[in-house]
Amino acid sequence: MARYAPRRPMNRRRAADEPVRRHSGLPPEVFNRIVQSVSMQAAAERYGLNPDRRGWCCCPFHSEKTPSFKVYPGTGGFYCFGCGAGGDVLTFAEQLFGLKPVDAAKRLDADFSLGLFASPAPADTGWQRRKAEREAAATWREQRSWAIARCLKAIHDLPLPRPGDDDYAAHYALQQANAEWLEYAKEKEVLPD
Ligand code: ZN
Repeated sequence: MARYAPRRPMNRRRAADEPVRRHSGLPPEVFNRIVQSVSMQAAAERYGLNPDRRGWCCCPFHSEKTPSFKVYPGTGGFYCFGCGAGGDVLTFAEQLFGLKPVDAAKRLDADFSLGLFASPAPADTGWQRRKAEREAAATWREQRSWAIARCLKAIHDLPLPRPGDDDYAAHYALQQANAEWLEYAKEKEVLPD
């Protein structure tokens, strides 16, 4: 049994409420946003077709010297009367750059700053530096508290001054003052200088 598909001219004007055709692998809302946000005129100019003010330019899909490529206003897309290529702005980007629909959409999204696709997060080069800084700080604190503990032990181990040994008594008193400072520094994590 013969089947007849209704024939649609390629560049027939689309009714405002007519759903746009689906592109495989692309959510319809993304497709709609792109086709509505990027006019064929803007894409043609951006990608160097230089259409005249009535929308005519040479076709990028076949070799020609006389313009037969028509850019339609708004969301009207394009049609080439020479080779029959036609479609919307996304089809245009697909064919011009040889991209899959989703990649063509990303290209238009980037070139026209639509912000539909999240750009990949920039690689965090800071985390390794921050990790190294944290480790260096931990090592420093450990070495410091070990050095302070050693000094304090040495001071605490000093024998008490004997009566009459004034030089040693002065040294001993100075070391006790040092010990107080070291105890303070140990608590406050300040650097004794
Ligand atoms: Zn053509």
